[in-house]
Amino acid sequence: MEFEWLNSCIADETIELVLVFNEKGDILFGNQSAVQKLEYDKEELIKCNMMQIFRQDFLEGDNGDQTFEKETLESKKETAMYRKNSSCFPVNIHIIPSKEAGIYVLMAEDISRQKDMNARIRKLKEEEQENQKARNEFTANVTHELRTPVNGIRGHVTTLLDQIQDEEQRKTLDIILYCCDNMSAIINNILDFAKLESGKFTIDEKEFDFYKMMDRVIATHSAEINKKELRFSVDVDEKIPRLMIGDELRIVQILNNLMSNAIKFTMVGYINIVVSKTSQVNDEIELFFMVRDSGIGISQAEKDRLFQSFSQVDASITRRFGGTGLGLAITKQLIEMMQGSIHLESEKGKGSTFSFSVKLRTNQSINENNDKIYGAWANFAKEEDKKGGDVFTSFGEIDKNEELKKRMDKLVLSIELSAWDKAEMLAATIKTLIDTDNDDLKKQVLRMEMAIRKSNYEKSMDMYEKVKKLLSEQIGEI
Ligand code: ADP
Repeated sequence: MEFEWLNSCIADETIELVLVFNEKGDILFGNQSAVQKLEYDKEELIKCNMMQIFRQDFLEGDNGDQTFEKETLESKKETAMYRKNSSCFPVNIHIIPSKEAGIYVLMAEDISRQKDMNARIRKLKEEEQENQKARNEFTANVTHELRTPVNGIRGHVTTLLDQIQDEEQRKTLDIILYCCDNMSAIINNILDFAKLESGKFTIDEKEFDFYKMMDRVIATHSAEINKKELRFSVDVDEKIPRLMIGDELRIVQILNNLMSNAIKFTMVGYINIVVSKTSQVNDEIELFFMVRDSGIGISQAEKDRLFQSFSQVDASITRRFGGTGLGLAITKQLIEMMQGSIHLESEKGKGSTFSFSVKLRTNQSINENNDKIYGAWANFAKEEDKKGGDVFTSFGEIDKNEELKKRMDKLVLSIELSAWDKAEMLAATIKTLIDTDNDDLKKQVLRMEMAIRKSNYEKSMDMYEKVKKLLSEQIGEI
């Protein structure tokens, strides 16, 4: 009776079930919601004991009696409440004791709908995972099967190229080869993507020469950069040890993807790679890479979608430049597998900077010498940097020859001054600037480099003269 006011004011208004009970578990009050949900009459409910409502929470004692222990109930958050007809429903409960009055207020929230919903979501998720698995397996099988005919076409076209002399026909065959390579790249991307999605992708841990890796990446793209007459520079932190342990092929894949995008979307200006060592804790090294371009750039709105799979900035770009929109999604996942992250800074029309970090290992100690076998390109950029001038150097055909002449000039001066470090850097750069079929010239440059490395003045000068003569025949008076 004394709870009537409570009944009318609050308890009946709430959608939660409210039960008030005493030390013995006798129910003294049940609100409207409790009456409805438990399917008792109001009078019946207040004759019940909590043990009838919360049957799961009270165990039979040794003598066959059940005892009501409110502590058992208090320790629960989620439990079940039983209706008059012995069916039950799940609830979240909360008990507020009023010690002086010796009574307890229990509030319960019916979570059947929530539970149903969770079960349905779980089922949908499981179904989606199954579908995804089937899709990935299908993709992996189809792409694998596609590789065989593409390789077949490639092999036959290469054989034909050896047999056919006609220029026009050779051009057509070259185009077919180019298309095969594009197709292989797309197939590989789809295969990688399927593997990454199904969690079958693993990262290798093998020792590799970091500087040789960088040289290989640069060699892969230099022809395309030259063709577009873009300025190109590479700046590699000399504190990076030569021998690293990690997945070389995947780092190359990341760099190749960023580089080919940079070249694809840059018509004039420059491309620049920067690599630095950001931290080393024992044998673990963090490297930071930047690939910068002065290309078409990417707007803020477009940036957000960029690392999602199959996303290209707009459809007209696909028509103009091709691509599947998978490259950056794969790149991002590969980087994350190497405990790194990728970022983009870009402004429409002004160019883009993609930067990323990866964690690798090394057995080389921090102070160990790198044998001075730095990548030729790294030295080149450093040298340009030291001059305080333009770090970007043009590799258009004419500029390249000018550059060669300039470097030959500086080289003889360095040899004469016995500035061997500088001479070695210059010789390495000269070697990379010469792309020639002239084997004799290549050999002489190599010998010159060896003589300089050994700081042998006589031999270095001798070889220098030979290289100069051969180069003059090729590019004009030096
Ligand atoms: P795709 O394989 O089609 O090139 P990516 O995931 O590598 O796919 O790139 C997705 C899209 O991001 C590209 O189609 C292009 O619109 C944009 N993009 C990527 N890199 C650059 C860049 N350096 N400059 C301008 N746009 C870029």
